Parts: sequence; C-alpha cells; structure tokens
Amino acid sequence: MERFSKQRRLWLGGVLGLALPMARLAAAPLSVPPPLPSLDRTDASLAPWQPGWLDIHHIATGRGNATFVLLPDGTSLLIDAGASAAGLDVSVAPRPSAARRPGQWIARYVLRHLRPSGRDALDYLVVTHLHPDHMGDSDAASPLARNAAYRLSGVTDVADQLEVGTLIDRGFPDYGYPSLLQAPFADNYRAFVRARVAAGCKVERFQAGSARQIAARGHRPGAWPFEVRNVAVNGQVWSGSGEEARMLFPSLDSLERSEWPTENSCSAALRIGYGRFSYFTAGDLTSYTEDGALPWRDVLGPAARAAGPVSVATADHHGMFDGLNADVVRSLQPKAWVIPSWHISHPDMLQLERMFSQRLYPGPREVFATTLMEENLRANGRLARRLRSRDGHVVVRVAPGGGSFYVAVTGNGDETDRVKLLTESVLL
Ligand SMILES: [Zn+2]
Repeated sequence: MERFSKQRRLWLGGVLGLALPMARLAAAPLSVPPPLPSLDRTDASLAPWQPGWLDIHHIATGRGNATFVLLPDGTSLLIDAGASAAGLDVSVAPRPSAARRPGQWIARYVLRHLRPSGRDALDYLVVTHLHPDHMGDSDAASPLARNAAYRLSGVTDVADQLEVGTLIDRGFPDYGYPSLLQAPFADNYRAFVRARVAAGCKVERFQAGSARQIAARGHRPGAWPFEVRNVAVNGQVWSGSGEEARMLFPSLDSLERSEWPTENSCSAALRIGYGRFSYFTAGDLTSYTEDGALPWRDVLGPAARAAGPVSVATADHHGMFDGLNADVVRSLQPKAWVIPSWHISHPDMLQLERMFSQRLYPGPREVFATTLMEENLRANGRLARRLRSRDGHVVVRVAPGGGSFYVAVTGNGDETDRVKLLTESVLL
C-alpha cells in the first residue's frame, strides 16, 4: 500500500512537473490516472510490461527500422525489421555489436520484452515497404534458412527465431504494383513469403482504412480498448471516417514510367489509439512533390491529416529532406517525435527545424533519435544538440487507459535494457 501511494505521488509529480498552461491543467479531469504498478528508474533495467500498458519500442540496431509494440491486452506487433548493409563510412556501427545479425538482435529484443505478456510468439509483423533498412538485405554471403528456400536477414531472421502469426505487407500476393521490384533483397523476401504460404502460415496485404486487420487478440483479460488503424498504403489513404480509403495516385497509364510511384511513396502507415493517446508511423512515406510537379507524391500529408493530431509520431523516411513538410507537422503536432536514424543523412536540418518549430504548432515537445552519426551531429550543430537523446532504444510507455505517457531511452550497447534517460509523464 505504501508502495502504491508513493508511486501515486511520483506519478503526480511527473504530471505537475510538466510545464502545461494553466488552462490545460484546468481542463484535465479531476480523477488522476491510475498509477503504473511499477515505475521505471534511471540506471535500472526497464520495468517489465504489465496488462493495460501500451509499450512502443523503437529498437536501435543502427541498421534500419524495427518497432516492437506490445498492446494493452498482450497483442504484439512488430513494424519492420531492417538490416541494411550500408557501409560504416555512411552509417553507424551495428548495435549492440556485429556478433549477431540485426534481425537476430531484433528477435532477441522482441522475445525478452514479449515474455512478460506470457507469450513467446508475435501476433503480427508489418513490413511497411520492401527496402533493406525495413525488411533486410541479402547477398550470397547471407546464411540460408533451414529449408534453403531463402536467406536470413531482417524479417527472415526474425521469423527464423520466433513464431510470427500474421505477416502483413503492401504487395502480397503478386507484388506487382506499380511493378515487380527487381532486386536480390526483394527476390529473397518473396521467396520467404512463398515458403510461408506453402507452410500454411498467414500472409496478408495491408488494407488501407481498416481497423480490423490488426485486431485485439485478448491474450490478457481486462477492458483495455485500443485501435490499430491502417492509414495508408500504395497511394490509398484513409478518409478519416469508417473504413473508407481514397486513391491519390493517378492511373499508371497516365504517367511516364519515370513518374510512377516509388517504393517509399507506397509505404504502409498506421495509427495506434488508446484512450487519449495516439501514435502515428508511416515507414518511408514522403511529402515531397518535386516542387509541385507531382502533387500526388505527397501521401504523407493526407495520411497525417487523417491521423492527427497525435501524442507521438515518427519522423518518417528517417527525417530525410522529403519527409515532413510544414503541413505534416501542423497536422501531427506530437508531444514527442522519434527519428529512426542510422545513416549520415538522418536527420535533415530543415526537418529538425520543423519538428522544433513553435510556429508550426505551439507547446512543449521533445525529439529523440535512435542513433545519430557524429558527422550528422556536427552538420546539424545547435539543432541536433537539442535532441533529447541521440543513441538508444526509444521506448514510449503509455499508462493504463491511455491518459498519459512517458519516454524511456535504454542502452543499446548490450541487452540489459538499462534506462539511460527518463522523461516526465505527459498528461494528455
Ligand atoms: Zn528507410
């Protein structure tokens, strides 16, 4: 009991410590959100997930995107499992080390954070689009899977290490839109999908507008209503009502081949809602229109308008020049940005300027980067130094009911999940 009341004071301390305008405080409900049964502390290992919590782990391997989501009822979702083969002159060194492949590190991370839910299988794995830093690279040196049908890297490494319920991507079953991607990593991924289908495993195409494709599996009892909304994919964007989606891309017949939608612009985007908390992420979706020449290339803008405003958002396409335009930032207005960075070009200076801009939206916010190269830090100078963290897994922890959240940054040099930095709780 004493422990509980102490935690309540800590929770309140976090809430009141936030510099909120008085009007906002006055509008807050009189009932205080229930305290987390166990709060994190700096220099201790991240506290295990508990039913009712929503945890969003931005895993920092230094080789691409991987976001593990453990939903309040124990439903689990991994968004991407990147394993880029980019050289060390343009990217950070692998985290924790090169002793294992990035997909193996991701699988181990997922397994140890899944265990508190009482499960050791992933419910969903979403591949936002077919690029190596989101699903794995492969070449003749990559080891073969046990069935010898494909090579192990990224997503295929994860599926080799743990059971995956439903694999969802933008291209299944024919991968033909706008055309079949010709690259060894894409061939390898499609061979993996064929092997999964042959083995009777579920593979689905990501459905824009759906809030049912990624559904609560109810592994743990409790009334924890949440929603995973598929916001965009392949140029189709959720209308914001019902499950309708509209197509932004013109028919391919009306375009020059060079203007066809790119792999990035076809990325899957989704929004997770839990009480007043919401989260938006969109793979490598971009808003750049080649200065107005190809207006339909801005998919991120309409997707952000449909999803926003949100509590937490990722800086999509790693915070590169073509990700967040001003409208995207105005639509999303998050209290925390997470940049999935690992390359020398992540993030771009103007993207940082927009994320911090009080003109685009007023109020407090913090910006976190998963891994930042020293060269990028030097190039971006004062803006990059305003980042709250520049290296480590960025874990967003949402309190039961979704009334508040905080961010814990944990070390990625080993597997102890030691908390390096802890933010105040943000009351929503
Ligand atoms: Zn990418």
